[in-house]
Parts: sequence; C-alpha cells; structure tokens
Amino acid sequence: MGLGYRKQRTTLVIMILAITTLFLWSAAYFIFLQQREQMMEFHRSRTLRESELIAEFLTEALLRNDYAEARNFLRGWQRNHDYVTALSAHFDNGGTLFSYQRADNASLSAGELEQVRVISYGNRAMTLSLSHETTGIAMALERLSRSLALFAALLILMLGGALWFVLFRWSVKPMEREIGRRTQALREAIGYAHSLLYSMSGHIAIVDDTGHILDTNRSWREFARDNGYQGPDDMVGLCYFHACDDLDRLASKGEPWERAILEVLNGERDEYSMDYPCHSAEEQRWFLMRVVAVTYHGERRAIVNHINITDIKQVQEALARSEEELLAINRVYQALSASNKALSMAEDEQGLLAEVARIIHEDCGFPLVWIGYAQNGDAKALVTRSMAGPKTDFIEGIKLTWKGDDMGQAGPIGDCFRGGEPIIKANCSLAGSDDPWCKRAFEHGITASAAFPVSHGAARIGVIAVYSDAEDAFSSPVVALLKELSENLAFGVLAIRERRAREMAQRELERLSVTDKLTQLYNRLRTDTVLEAEVGRAERYGAKLSVMLFDIDHFKEVNDHFGHQFGDQVLVGLAEEVRHNLRENDVAGRWGGEEFLVIAPHTDLNGAKKLAEKLRQRFEAHDFGGDQRITASFGVAEWRPGDTSGNLIGRADRALYRAKNNGRNRVETDPPDAA
Ligand code: GH3
Ligand code: MG
Ligand code: MG
Repeated sequence: MGLGYRKQRTTLVIMILAITTLFLWSAAYFIFLQQREQMMEFHRSRTLRESELIAEFLTEALLRNDYAEARNFLRGWQRNHDYVTALSAHFDNGGTLFSYQRADNASLSAGELEQVRVISYGNRAMTLSLSHETTGIAMALERLSRSLALFAALLILMLGGALWFVLFRWSVKPMEREIGRRTQALREAIGYAHSLLYSMSGHIAIVDDTGHILDTNRSWREFARDNGYQGPDDMVGLCYFHACDDLDRLASKGEPWERAILEVLNGERDEYSMDYPCHSAEEQRWFLMRVVAVTYHGERRAIVNHINITDIKQVQEALARSEEELLAINRVYQALSASNKALSMAEDEQGLLAEVARIIHEDCGFPLVWIGYAQNGDAKALVTRSMAGPKTDFIEGIKLTWKGDDMGQAGPIGDCFRGGEPIIKANCSLAGSDDPWCKRAFEHGITASAAFPVSHGAARIGVIAVYSDAEDAFSSPVVALLKELSENLAFGVLAIRERRAREMAQRELERLSVTDKLTQLYNRLRTDTVLEAEVGRAERYGAKLSVMLFDIDHFKEVNDHFGHQFGDQVLVGLAEEVRHNLRENDVAGRWGGEEFLVIAPHTDLNGAKKLAEKLRQRFEAHDFGGDQRITASFGVAEWRPGDTSGNLIGRADRALYRAKNNGRNRVETDPPDAA
C-alpha cells in the first residue's frame, strides 16, 4: 500500500516539475526567438548600409575609370572589417575587379548574411557581393539561452521545492497518516477474516483460478487427516479436483460439479452449491458444498466450503418418512371412514363386501384387496367374495383354504383366519427365496402384504387381504386402522344379517297376524279389511265387485263322525282348493268356523256365480280319504251402488241361506234370478 502511494507521489512531483519546466522553457524560448530576430534585423540593416556605402564609393571610382582605387578600397574594407567573410565585384562582361573569400568559410553558411547589389556606371554595370559573419550574434544568443536555462532550472527547483513542501506538508502527510490508519484497519480485517476462516466449522478451501488450493482452514485439515489424508498439512498447492476425487463418485445430483466450480472461477457464475452423501465406514454423512467467487488482488478465486449437513439430512429424511407415513395413515383413515359410511348404509352383504374392497383399493392405493369368507366344510375353503385392484391375477387360480393353502403350506391368509390376528409381511424380500408366496408376490410386483381377520366376538367370518407394491407400507398405525376396518366390517356384516333376520321375523309376524293359522287363508280381520277396501274402490271407480260366502254342509256331522282332526284336515284341504282355483286378484278368507268369504273384484254376479260353481265342483270332487264326500253351499251377491260391505255380505248370506234351504251343495245368488 505504502509503495503504491510513494509511486503516485513521485509521479505527481515529476509531472508538476515537467509542466513547470515546459512552461519556463517555452517562455525562455519565446524571449530567445524575439531577441534573435532583433539581432538579425540589426545585422541585416548594417550589411545593407555598408553595401550601400561601398556601392556609392565604387560608382564614383568606376565613373572615373579608376579601377585601382576601387580595388584598393575594397581590399582596405575587407582588411578593416574582420567579420566580412566574402567580398567580390564582377564586371557585367564576366571580368573580376576584386574577389575575397575567407579561408575558414568557403561557402555561405548558417549565421552568415549576404548582400548582393548591381552597380550601374555609365552604360555598364557591376555586381557587388558582400557577406557578413554573424557568429558573434549566435554566441551572444547562446549565452543568453544558457542564462535562460540556468534561470529556468533555478526557477524549477524553487517551484518544485515549494510545491513539494506544500504537497507534503498539507496533502501528502495527512494522506499518509490516513493511509497508515486504513492499512492498519485492513490488516486487522484480514486478520479477523483469517481467524473467522480458521474458526469456521465448515471445511473451507480457497482455490485459485486453475483449481489449486491456496489455503485451507482447520476443519478442512482435520477432516482430511481423519479421512486418511497423509500429505502436507495445509494441502496448499494441491489441485482441489484431485484432492476431492471422491466427490465425483459421491455427487448425487448428476450435475458435473467440477465444471460448475470452474465456471465460478471463470466468472460464468457467482456461486454453486450441491449436497452429496459422503458415508464413512462408521457413519452415514451428508455434506453441502458451497462455492463462492471472490476477487483478491485482482485475481479471481473461489471459496469452497463443505458443510456437514448430516443432522439436517437425517431430520429431513425422518420428516419426509413421517410425512409419507402420515399421508398413508390419512388415506387409510379416509378408507376407514368411507367404509364405516358404507357399513351404515349397506343394504346387502355382497354389495357391502364389494364396496369395502373398492374403498380400500381406491382410497389407500393398494394394488390388490380381496375379501374372503371361510367355509366350515372339510375343505375349509376361503372363498373370495370381492376383489379390487389391477393385480387380481395374483390370487386367481389358487384354491385358498384356512387349514393350509394348496402351495403346500399354510399361507399368511389362512394363518390370519386361524389365529384371529393380523399377519403382516412388511417386506417380502426379507422372507427368503424359499417362501412360495413371496416368490409369487415378486412375480406380480408385490412386495408387502397384510391379512386381517373379519370377525366379531365368536363370529369368525373371513379375512381381508391387502397387498402393496411398496416396502414397509404397513406401519403400525396403518395396520391398526385396517384392523379396525376389518372389525367394523365384521360388525357390519353381522348387523346386515341380523337386520335381515329381524325383517323376516317381522314379515312372518305380520303374515301371521292376518292369516288364519289352520287354513293359511286370510283371517276374519284381514278379510273384513280387504272387503271394506274393495267396496270403497267400487264406489270410487264404479268398478264391478262380487262376493261369495260358502259354508261346509253338515260339518258338524263330519266332525262327529270322523273326529275333529279330520274336520281340520277337511278345512285345510278345501282352503287349498280355493287357493288353487282363484284368480290373482281374488281374495279368500276364513269368515267363521267352517264358513269362507271369497272377494272377486272386477267380477259381475254371473262371473262370480261361475267361480262359485267351479269351486263347488272342485270341493265335491276332492278326495279326503274314504268315501266321504265333502260339499259346500254358496251364496253369491254383486255389489250395487250404495251398498255397504254389510249390505253386500247380508245379501250373500241370504243367498247362502237359500242354498242351504234348497238342498245344499249348490250355488244361489242374490237376487235369485240372476243366473
Ligand atoms: P249345515 O249344513 O247346516 O251348515 O250343518 P252344519 O253341521 O255344518 O252346521 P253347524 O253350524 O250346526 O255346525 C258347524 C260345525 O262346524 C260345528 C263345529 O264343530 C264345526 N266347526 C267349526 N269350526 C271348526 C274347526 O275349526 N274345526 C272343526 N273340526 N270343526 C269346526
Ligand atoms: Mg256354518
Ligand atoms: Mg255348515
């Protein structure tokens, strides 16, 4: 820094001196030129004057034809004037009057002045030539210029000294002090930077633009030593790219890190970073390499910092794992919730099984889900009841049992059903190649499986089998949720079965409440209700409606003769005949002990009479065993507008009464002439 300042100061002083000298010399030279011009003017006028004087004298002498005097005059002039270097007078015919040439100066040279004039005398002419030396003038001028130079040098020295004093005193000194202060601060900053560099926990190397190491910090050196490096301690001078050979092998991103560092060094990019695994035999490690460009003393360098990010990486990986696990749990949770909803809405068992398999497959993303029911026969078969997912071919063609599968050993599904506990194969690859299930799983791209018993209390129904193409897909929370789902499914299946049984019982109860226990025809209550409804309908729509009452003839005697039980059989047999011979819309009910009512909607009196006649004949023909013939008497009536059910039945009853009175085993109508 000091050196630079000194250089600047010298340059400044030299420049000031040069400018001053130039200025002074310019002034001096200007004066010199002026002086020289004045001197030359003086000489020119003297030569002119002298040549005029000589010409005057020569003209007079020549007019007198006194050539000798003219020649003597010229010689005398030459002798009396030592500064004359040449003097000559030539006639116009070429002849010479006088000629003088100073020996040391043969020709006209610098510093000489020549005056040539033509002298006319009479009708003739003569050329006079006179040359003067000017050396004296030149010397005088030289003296002058020397004194000027001396003066200028003195001036320069004085001026320079003054300038120097001013600069040094008022400008340079404070500047020097400031520079000193700054240099000290800079030194401290550099020291500070170095301390920082050495104290950094990252492994730092500073490399030059050819990739050679200029400096390394303590962490770098310690790391190198710990990892088997045995060269010079600071590694200075080594090529970074060779020192870190392993990086190439370990770089995980696939980006060519070496080129990237060179790009930083070349100025094509300002920084570069990359994280990479660098595991040792003892531990797993990850590093972040960050390369930053710096310019120092005009040279580009790179600070390469390797930071151990193992802790962060491990936390990140754990976080990613738990995030993934959480997602999986969430998916299964959704499946559980959807499955519970399906359970609550399920109408039939098979539909529920299909829906639950679909939900587990779709919500959790498992490639195969199936639900099997266990059968209790000798085969102890596990029958697939529903399947979902693209990998159904995994179990297709396999006869599954819960005593052991047809692969020669008990499979996980059978084990699960038998044991009543989930069976998880978290990672098929760990099971060994002799496991036929795992072998098959691998062939189908399945790596993990889980089986859950579908059972509730003592009711053991079957299994849910779930397969995954991801290892460790069945974490304990996932298993817990799927287990709950399986239990809920069992509960749902049992609930459906129970509901179904209850419904059947209810229906039976309802049927019994309207059915006559002996004949299985409608009882009196139900028959009455139907009659009321049909009369109402006939009234509303004006539809036809007929009824018939029939009563078994001499039934008391039958009972008395053959016993009550036989009488019951007769009642049952006749009811059977009625059921078989009625049309779909006709309704028959037990009206009293051995008295029955048939309601025939959309039937007129004639139609009803025909039906009654048909029944009468069927009864008559019915064989109840032995020779005993059973007959019945029929009273038929048609509804008329305004009739209540009571009126209608009353008229039928009247007709029946007539049938009895008219000899039994016959059909009578009301009115009687209807037939
Ligand atoms: P009629 O030809 O005039 O109808 O003579 P009947 O003997 O059939 O008439 P009656 O009213 O005197 O007798 C009806 C008998 O039907 C009396 C009763 O014992 C018998 N009876 C009623 N309900 C049942 C029953 O459920 N089972 C049996 N076995 N007999 C019944
Ligand atoms: Mg009777
Ligand atoms: Mg009777």
